[in-house]
Amino acid sequence: MVEKESKKKWNFEGNFHGEQKTASPPITVRGILYMIMRSLNKDDDRPIIPLGHGDPSAFPCFRTSAAAEDAVVDALRSARYNSYSPTVGILPARRAIAGYLSHDLPYNLSPDDVYLTVGCSNAIEVIIEALARPGANILVPRPGFPYYDVRAACSNLEVRHYDLLPDKGWEVDLEAVEALSDENTVAMVIINPGNPCGNVHSPQHLEKIAEKARKLGILVIADEVYEQITFGSTNFVPMAAFAATVPVITLGSISKRWTVPGWRLGWLVTCDPTAALKNSGLIERITECLEVTTDPATFIQAAIPQILEKTKEEFYSNIIAILRRCADICFDRLQEIPCITCPSKPEGSMFLMVKLNLELLDDIGDDMEFCIKLAEEESVVVLPGVAVGMKNWLRVTFACDHSCLEDGLGRMKAFYQRHAKKH
Ligand SMILES: *Cc1c(COP(=O)(O)O)cnc(C)c1O
Repeated sequence: MVEKESKKKWNFEGNFHGEQKTASPPITVRGILYMIMRSLNKDDDRPIIPLGHGDPSAFPCFRTSAAAEDAVVDALRSARYNSYSPTVGILPARRAIAGYLSHDLPYNLSPDDVYLTVGCSNAIEVIIEALARPGANILVPRPGFPYYDVRAACSNLEVRHYDLLPDKGWEVDLEAVEALSDENTVAMVIINPGNPCGNVHSPQHLEKIAEKARKLGILVIADEVYEQITFGSTNFVPMAAFAATVPVITLGSISKRWTVPGWRLGWLVTCDPTAALKNSGLIERITECLEVTTDPATFIQAAIPQILEKTKEEFYSNIIAILRRCADICFDRLQEIPCITCPSKPEGSMFLMVKLNLELLDDIGDDMEFCIKLAEEESVVVLPGVAVGMKNWLRVTFACDHSCLEDGLGRMKAFYQRHAKKH
């Protein structure tokens, strides 16, 4: 008997990444944050300041609305939502979301336009898989949200990155969009309000995006997971307001506005008042893709009508006031650190991007090293820009308690002073 060449005991052993379609393992925000968190010094008695990921739900000041909690309790206690849900989601929830999103639109969405997903992440997964076909490509922003790249790699859909322009308030580089696209480009993604830049696109800019997409014959995927989370001079306008120009797929969830990312309820909405998508086959593909992913918990779906209708205006305005103050503190404190430049003050979401000036630092080679040493020495976690496509920048989350934020930014300043180049 000829001995097998391989010494493998199990067939699943080996370098999975090397055997994947992508050349290198895809970068995820979580993966990089875990790596940085491994550098935290356990002997530091001070609290860890988490400015790396956008989940403020652990802070008491960001607790979700009482109405949302009651809605979930009521749904659960009714004992009517212990079954599997339909693939597309239960009708009352779809209807409620259609109504909620139609408030800001010049036309009404129908419940049939709404598909419920396991958070916005699952909505991203579904739309990417639905659009994937051999040779096709999709345009995504840089800096951006790396989950798009990860999902596209899984679905074998090519990703092309267009830049957001820091000198223009992080507007989309529309010339780059045109230059990057070809007859195989199926869609462009925008994230508004922006993660990681904290920018909010003006209606004038959204209109230009719609016109450009129409000219190129591509769909706009609008990631509006931070919808309504704005606190600057530009108000949120949904991309779907321009759906008469170009079909829009809106993605969202309750994770951010209600600060309940653990509830895992999101949506994918087809905004298609001219019926441009109707005969494209895309709607059928979306349903097919939903059939092979799992559904959000039925009782959370059932809570949606009450969450949307009964949450008081006060809850939203309180969160916005907290975030506005957070953004002010963050912007002001970062300005006091000479090796950091903020191109613009954040007007929405929970993040901002800042540039590192490494020439002013003695022993730090890049953004990754900056973040690792900062975690080690100051127990402050921030995300290196390389994780979102911009090397030697940093993404800072300001959605935390004010005193925690002051503390963390004070430590960042002390870190700079210790590592500043001596003249
Ligand atoms: C948080 C986030 C998501 C994912 O939202 P979930 O509802 O938690 O899955 C998607 N897109 C962006 C830009 C995000 O910041």
